[in-house]
Amino acid sequence: TAKEYGKNRHEHFDLARHLSHQARGRVLDRIGDALTEEQLELHYQPKIDLIGRRVAGFEALLRWNHPTDGLISPRAFIDHLEYTDHAGAVGRFVIERAIAQLHRLDSEALNYSISVNLSPSHFLSPTFCDDLWHALQACPFRIRERLILELLETTALDDSNRVIETLQACRELGVQISLDDFGTGYSSLDYFRRLPANEIKIDRSFVQDMRDNSDDEMIVHAIIGLAKSFKRHIVAEGIEDTATQARLIEMGCEYGQGFLYSRPLPADAALEWARNFCWQLP
Ligand code: C2E
Ligand code: MG
Ligand code: MG
Ligand code: MG
Repeated sequence: TAKEYGKNRHEHFDLARHLSHQARGRVLDRIGDALTEEQLELHYQPKIDLIGRRVAGFEALLRWNHPTDGLISPRAFIDHLEYTDHAGAVGRFVIERAIAQLHRLDSEALNYSISVNLSPSHFLSPTFCDDLWHALQACPFRIRERLILELLETTALDDSNRVIETLQACRELGVQISLDDFGTGYSSLDYFRRLPANEIKIDRSFVQDMRDNSDDEMIVHAIIGLAKSFKRHIVAEGIEDTATQARLIEMGCEYGQGFLYSRPLPADAALEWARNFCWQLP
């Protein structure tokens, strides 16, 4: 029910598994409403260039602004959405909204990138490339190359030939590809090498534990090394303290995101934040 969604919004679990068929049906209807009644919005978390010490761009993160439950985190509905017919519609909405934001930035002569999270079922659907092509129609190359599509490493493992083909098609449209939550899947090095990704994002779980856990630090170190060897950009997500930031910089990590810098913010607030950004030495 609506109440349960509100309460569970900060928890991380597969909601779909806990829902009866009936409850799923009700959520499905409400997600349909969310789209038609414009209750979905994107918040933006800054992505920091740790070497240039400036704001490189933003990650767009979906929020459901529900009339009675308030702001609902994607953790509470994203996995569930994947099982409904609305995944494609929400996926298109997110991509189109992010592109609109890129146009706005461009008109203000700001060259920030915007990263969006792809819905696994939308990405694997037969319409994905057409949807992306359509959304990019009025975009000059300089704007396309600032759009970064984040694909979960676990989704990349789904149907490898199809994934590689689709990613290649995205690259030909001029956008960039990032492998999200990297380290949580089981990519073989051979497969990794074949994936046409520009960037990898180290999963937050490794970043957050690396200060107290030397195994996690070694994993982060290894992923950075892997990215560098294969000439992929590298992002650490979930940076919450300056000690972690300092260690990541020492290890040569290029980009960082996390509450140390900023939580995800509504579009205007995120831009304002970026305008006032000033690197604080640890
Ligand atoms: P993600 O893509 O790995 O995004 C990072 C998540 O970590 C975001 O949660 C962000 O708010 C949170 N985060 C960032 N920095 C920190 C930090 O320093 N500490 C902690 N504890 N958390 C941090 P959010 O916005 O709740 O999103 C959760 C997940 O939902 C995302 O993980 C992504 O997989 C998915 N998601 C978000 N937006 C979309 C979307 O538009 N479409 C799809 N398909 N999935 C989305
Ligand atoms: Mg992401
Ligand atoms: Mg991630
Ligand atoms: Mg994640």
